[in-house]
Amino acid sequence: MNDVTVVGGGVAGLSCAWELTRAGRRVALLEADRIAAGVTGYTTAKLSSLHTLVYERLRRTRGADGARAYAQSQQGAVERVAEIAELLDIECELERFPAFTFGRDPVGADRLRAEAAAAKGAGLAASCQEPSSPHRTSSSPRTTRSSTVPCSSPGSRRAANS
Ligand SMILES: Cc1cc2nc3c(=O)[nH]c(=O)nc-3n(C[C@H](O)[C@H](O)[C@H](O)COP(=O)(O)OP(=O)(O)OC[C@H]3O[C@@H](n4cnc5c(N)ncnc54)[C@H](O)[C@@H]3O)c2cc1C
Repeated sequence: MNDVTVVGGGVAGLSCAWELTRAGRRVALLEADRIAAGVTGYTTAKLSSLHTLVYERLRRTRGADGARAYAQSQQGAVERVAEIAELLDIECELERFPAFTFGRDPVGADRLRAEAAAAKGAGLAASCQEPSSPHRTSSSPRTTRSSTVPCSSPGSRRAANS
């Protein structure tokens, strides 16, 4: 007899099933097709708590506590995957890189600055890098976080998100 039935063998279902099993529950995982062959099979496997422009909107609509809770949940998930990869000794070429959100024109520059400020206010190590080099094609700044963890698929190395 199972304690829990998890429906769907993508990364969400597999993660739930694994965590529940670790917590001592008896888990049945039901998959209609093949394990990790749905959307999960096509992921670029990048993990990040910087999701283009989200923190400024969250701060506006959910308040500072809401933005902080989102940041903590996202960064917590990134760190959890890193822990699990280490715990299970998974050869996935896990590497840490900064994550960037770039602006392509000056129009969005203020939004990028606001996003960097909101992300920092939410507790992330975020900053806004203003264009400094005349060789740069973009005159817009970019936001960056310094501790994201892209997890590449076996056999390939991925760059951080843009
Ligand atoms: C090209 C691409 C790149 C991406 N890159 C990234 C990335 O870099 N980083 C990132 O974080 N996210 C990325 N994503 C998003 C990420 O891959 C998905 O959010 C994630 O894989 C969704 O996982 P899931 O378990 O929710 O869904 P799925 O992987 O779709 O799994 C759902 C499973 O449930 C099964 N199922 C459905 N209904 C039933 C049922 N009634 N009974 C039994 N089984 C059922 C399906 O067959 C499927 O296997 C990317 C997505 C795509 C398409």
